[in-house]
Amino acid sequence: QKKAAVIGSGVAGLASAIRLAVQGFSVTVYEKNEYPGGKLSHFEKDGFHFDAGPSLFTQPQNIAELFTLAGENMQDYFSYKQLPISCNYFYEDGTIINAWANANQLAKELHDKTGEDENAVMQYLNGAATLYQNVAEIFLNYSLHKLNTLFKAPILKALQTAKGRHLFGSLHTLNNKAFTKPHTVQLFNRYATYNGSNPYKAPGMLSLIPHLEHNEGNFYPKGGMISITNALYALALKKGVNFKFNLPVERIIESGGKVLGLVADKKNIPADVVISNMDIYGTYKYLLQNPDKATAILKQERSSSALVFYWGINGTFPQLDLHNIFFSNDYKTEFEHLFVHKTMQPDPTVYINITSKCEPGVQAPDGKENWFVMVNAPANIGQNWEEIKPAIKQLVLQKLSRLLQTNIEPLIETEEILDPISIETKTASYMGSLYGSSSNSKMAAFLRHPNFSKNIMGLYFAGGSVHPGGGIPLCLKSAKIMSELVAADFSKQKQH
Ligand code: FAD
Repeated sequence: QKKAAVIGSGVAGLASAIRLAVQGFSVTVYEKNEYPGGKLSHFEKDGFHFDAGPSLFTQPQNIAELFTLAGENMQDYFSYKQLPISCNYFYEDGTIINAWANANQLAKELHDKTGEDENAVMQYLNGAATLYQNVAEIFLNYSLHKLNTLFKAPILKALQTAKGRHLFGSLHTLNNKAFTKPHTVQLFNRYATYNGSNPYKAPGMLSLIPHLEHNEGNFYPKGGMISITNALYALALKKGVNFKFNLPVERIIESGGKVLGLVADKKNIPADVVISNMDIYGTYKYLLQNPDKATAILKQERSSSALVFYWGINGTFPQLDLHNIFFSNDYKTEFEHLFVHKTMQPDPTVYINITSKCEPGVQAPDGKENWFVMVNAPANIGQNWEEIKPAIKQLVLQKLSRLLQTNIEPLIETEEILDPISIETKTASYMGSLYGSSSNSKMAAFLRHPNFSKNIMGLYFAGGSVHPGGGIPLCLKSAKIMSELVAADFSKQKQH
């Protein structure tokens, strides 16, 4: 039986392990932490449950596909429900928009609250659907770096669909033309942050992202986001995958352009294929000891990072839902601070996720709420986070207290804080970036690292820092693309 070694148990590492086990490999996952999931992890404090990282769940079909592939019934492991409201948006002028997941309801809400043309909204979301189906399907499901797989893709359809405004203009320029009301423009600009990018720089192509929420839907996994990790971990165990926790991989061994295995705990461990789920920068710098290649990765700007305040709140807020955004009054400056000055501006956009809205009394004690309060932060370049954190906390408290008309600080019963440095320490994500590289350049989609090594046979990559990108849906797709490349490479070897 061929041996596969997976470095890292992030969501893409878990999906990779399942897919290769189904292919018949004997799979071992090496994880430096004592728990699986990487960024998709969880902790409990004083009766409050907190998902540590991701909070937004779209495209559950990527998870269902893994269970089908493994011949297991997903309902035995994992369940979720569709949400009627995608997000509540709060603006400094007092406007509140309940962004219904249903496209027609959203268009009506935007019309009622801002005066936006309902047809413009419907046209935009229909355009997003076409873009997604004709263009994204190629980017997300194929390796862009293998000509033979690319020839299978419906390229012509994609070329006919993508227009200049999607490829050459920014998302903001596109949105500014599509809508007449600044609040609508800001709402749709926000989708650039779904992969840690700047809407004033990232291409108009990102206008396809709202398709996921407003045409396909937004979901809540029962038990919170950690249920995704738990379900995939249980499925991997069921398929016979071995896990070695607290075991950082020190090096990947190769000879003559072929992978031979890896080194962990100073021992050589042979493997026929190695899949790195570690950030691609660290994979080259530390595991392959190739600093030049690591530096070349950095030609692409890192995505944004985050400051997260996990607050146990003594009280309930009926005007809040699972996902809530409190917009900055000066969005453009916020992104200039994040990506140009690498600082945070005094009026940051604040996101609050509250899973106790979906499971009251379970995710937080009765009559209380678990707030995951996140502010976009620049990638870490050595800023003084110990100074920044309390300053931003005060600004966030002032903003929330103003817009919710309640003094929030006395309600905080318990607190934990995550900053770009702790994100890097926990998951080895270079500079604490959430999504590997940003999409701030027009060519970003083509410049992400492929899911295989061009120089070392048997070495593959899956995760948020490689093709097709960060975020749970794309990480799961990266595992799929990778495993298809492995299957093709091994069937070729058998033929010879
Ligand atoms: P990671 O989660 O990065 O895990 C990599 C694993 O590799 C880690 O467990 C690490 O310990 C391990 N590792 C690294 N080096 C080694 C080594 N040498 N040896 C052994 N193990 C090693 N995405 C969404 O879809 N929706 C969201 O709402 C969202 N919000 C986010 C909010 C925050 C605060 C954060 C941090 C991220 C968010 N993301 C979101 C992004 C999402 O979490 C990531 O894109 C995704 O989880 C990355 O998964 P991954 O498979 O690339 O691996």
